Amino acid sequence: MKSYDVAVIGSGPGGYVAAIRCAQLGMSTAIIEKYSTLGGTCLNVGCIPSKALLDSSHHYEDAVKHFETHGIDIPGEVKVNLKQMIARKQAVVDQTTGGIDFLMKKNKIDVYQGVGSFKDATHIEISGENSEEIEAKNIIIATGSKPSNLPFIELDKERIITSTEALKLKEIPKHLIVIGGGVIGLELGQVYKRLGAEVTIVEYMDRIIPTMDSGLSKELNKVFKKQKFRINASHQVKSVERTGDEVIVTAENKKGETVEFKGDYCLVSVGRRPYTDGLNAEAAGVKVDDRGRVEVNHHLQTSASNIYAIGDVVKGAMLAHKAEEEGVFVAETIAGQKPHIDYNLIPGVVYTWPEVAAVGKTEEELKEAGINYKSGQFPMRALGRSRASMDIDGFVKILADAQTDEILGVHMIGARAADMIAEAVVAMEYRASAEDISRMSHAHPTFTEAIKEAALAATDNRPLHI
Ligand code: FAD
Ligand code: NAD
Repeated sequence: MKSYDVAVIGSGPGGYVAAIRCAQLGMSTAIIEKYSTLGGTCLNVGCIPSKALLDSSHHYEDAVKHFETHGIDIPGEVKVNLKQMIARKQAVVDQTTGGIDFLMKKNKIDVYQGVGSFKDATHIEISGENSEEIEAKNIIIATGSKPSNLPFIELDKERIITSTEALKLKEIPKHLIVIGGGVIGLELGQVYKRLGAEVTIVEYMDRIIPTMDSGLSKELNKVFKKQKFRINASHQVKSVERTGDEVIVTAENKKGETVEFKGDYCLVSVGRRPYTDGLNAEAAGVKVDDRGRVEVNHHLQTSASNIYAIGDVVKGAMLAHKAEEEGVFVAETIAGQKPHIDYNLIPGVVYTWPEVAAVGKTEEELKEAGINYKSGQFPMRALGRSRASMDIDGFVKILADAQTDEILGVHMIGARAADMIAEAVVAMEYRASAEDISRMSHAHPTFTEAIKEAALAATDNRPLHI
């Protein structure tokens, strides 16, 4: 039986990054993955394929709607070739997962394909084509998550689907009904909207992206309505039925009335659940909480002291970069270092267009905590850069402590917000004040000038360009 310093179960962004960091720190490392490709949800059926389709559909929309204004005439009709679009997405996925194979080899990490299940706290049985057992002094559980469902919905995976199927549809829906106005629903909803589908969003809470700052929800709602999405907030879905090619979603609105939505596809995107099936965690003395998450302490250590857990399978945001930070954190902890993660500074991004990005506290959270804050906001439409590219929707909002001016939260919606949020993360990591940002030079013309202007507005209410 082979023996390792560390064995990692699951090869998503949490698991593979943990394995690389363990190997960098000189530990003999194994990684176990049940699927034939490495990279987990993120690389195979999550972040990467969804962004590939968002990019392709964005190009199509530009060609159809915006090229003419830019002075680009295309003779003949611009058409979607969905088969090619999905094939390109898959090529991006294959290339990216192949890159992880390379990284495992480069770092001399042994890869085992099969389902890893605990025999005890130091032994893992791997059931794949050939079953085998390995031993490890330390084990990292990085088994990720799967799509959640509502108890009364039968996912047929043809017309009543999750994000996994939505990434490889064979036709463009005529009318896609999206249950859940969160990140997946909006990103994948926008892909098919751009390709020509009608898209109806049915959201239980009173606004889309309900966990983000309400200013962002309001602005995105406004832009999505301009893009002709049908948005139904405060609707509780009661049933989903399929008859032939038709899908009927029934919901109750806040007046208690029954509302029916008829379409040909229904995407269920109501969150994800931690995944521990087949892991046999009990055999190792690892406790799982009532929401199915592996219980961990501040060191991400489970109830068995040599076993750690990271990423979507533990509490916190279900984000690839959060999983990666935790992977590094655990590897360094095992190596005897004292790493640190500031969970308040893990940014959140929605890759719609306009993009939505945030870090730190929302206004709602500051109000609830009774923190005295000031707010500075700057609209994207006031930037020369925005007019040049015709991306005029959105704003940057900076929330700063009323007394000290320390930045407490940054919320932005607009072109390239996903990339711009990094400036806010750096600033907050160094505990910058809004005035600090307002005194830094930002290249002109760039979208980042909105950050400087919002900082000027927050500091002293003196933006220069509005
Ligand atoms: P996962 O990536 O889920 O990986 C877990 C791996 O463990 C899987 O490969 C699984 O097969 C394997 N496994 C499970 N049990 C066993 C076992 N017993 N034995 C062996 N292997 C096992 N996040 C972002 O930050 N940005 C985005 O843009 C983004 N887009 C997304 C889009 C979609 C459509 C979806 C679904 C998710 C998206 N996410 C995004 C979320 C992101 O994918 C997850 O947060 C991230 O993948 C979590 O990483 P992880 O390593 O914890 O788990
Ligand atoms: P989510 O939590 O973002 O959104 C789910 C939405 O469904 C919520 O708005 C919720 O109020 C709503 N909902 C729940 N029950 C409902 C019901 N009965 N009827 C109507 N609406 C209901 O979850 P998701 O969009 O499924 O994504 C899952 C996870 O994947 C998220 O945690 C997210 O962080 C991650 N993800 C991240 C990205 C990104 O970072 N860009 C992209 C995709 C997914």
